[in-house]
Amino acid sequence: MVPISFEFYPPKTAEQHAQLDRTVGKLRAENPEYVSVTFGAGGSTLSHTPETIQKLRASGLDSAPHITCMGGSREEIRGLLKLYRALGAKRLVALRGDLPSGMVSAGELRYADELVQFIREETGDHFHVEVAAYPEMHPQARDAHVDLRNFVGKVRAGANGAITQYFYNADAYFRFVDDVRRAGIDIPIVPGIMPIQNFSQIRRFSDLCGAEIPRWVTQRMLAYGDDADSVRAFGAEVVAQLCRRLVEGGAPSLHFYTLNLSKPTMNVLAQLR
Ligand code: FAD
Repeated sequence: MVPISFEFYPPKTAEQHAQLDRTVGKLRAENPEYVSVTFGAGGSTLSHTPETIQKLRASGLDSAPHITCMGGSREEIRGLLKLYRALGAKRLVALRGDLPSGMVSAGELRYADELVQFIREETGDHFHVEVAAYPEMHPQARDAHVDLRNFVGKVRAGANGAITQYFYNADAYFRFVDDVRRAGIDIPIVPGIMPIQNFSQIRRFSDLCGAEIPRWVTQRMLAYGDDADSVRAFGAEVVAQLCRRLVEGGAPSLHFYTLNLSKPTMNVLAQLR
């Protein structure tokens, strides 16, 4: 098996804290290379990412904060970088983020390439910086070629690696990696893996982020209807098969979007081992 990593979101309520504690307690046994914590859409003052990173690091997990351009001035981002350094973080996931509904102005930095450049200017080589990649194209991109050029731009600004948006079509990943290599970029491109726990939720997410669910998967999922056990079992099979193909085809590691749940990810890993 290749190395794996897990993504969590920062809990806010007591219930969410308890859930993350349980999830981390279980997933720890899978020996992740590191875990990452997303950055909320509301800007640095509203984000619970730093305290979650602090807690996970104290529990002995190598933890990487996500950091975004949205809602943060250069000064705020500088402050976050200082804080993460002081907490001992050595890895960051740098993103543009999305403008939360109701907010009219973005941060001072407009795109992830500017954020990566800023991180390098402020902190040199201290951080290993991951950026996002979109094998099925970022939904707002003008076209796939422009999106690829923009991806190459943010890598050239100083990224060390990339994690993809999730997808269920391995060929999209292989093709993307080929295109990136042809553009002269040799950083690792790690597939982001979204286990399927609740199909209607995955459909909603996929509509928003532009991930295609193959028709044969949708049709079988719809046929299971309210039979949640069958949905989960079939989902784990489909995602494990995807992971197997990716690893056989050269994926350097796998990054799981856990949504702070342990079971969906563990069901996939159990089939892989
Ligand atoms: P960019 O790379 O800046 O690209 C955004 C769009 O702009 C693309 O269409 C691109 O083609 C275009 N573009 C890029 N550079 C330029 C340029 N210089 N000039 C003109 N156009 C350009 N969101 C959060 O809010 N918090 C998170 O923690 C978070 N974690 C994520 C983790 C992963 C692994 C992934 C894949 C996504 C994550 N997201 C997160 C979602 C992400 O913020 C959105 O997908 C966002 O819309 C794009 O972010 P980006 O960093 O890919 O943007």
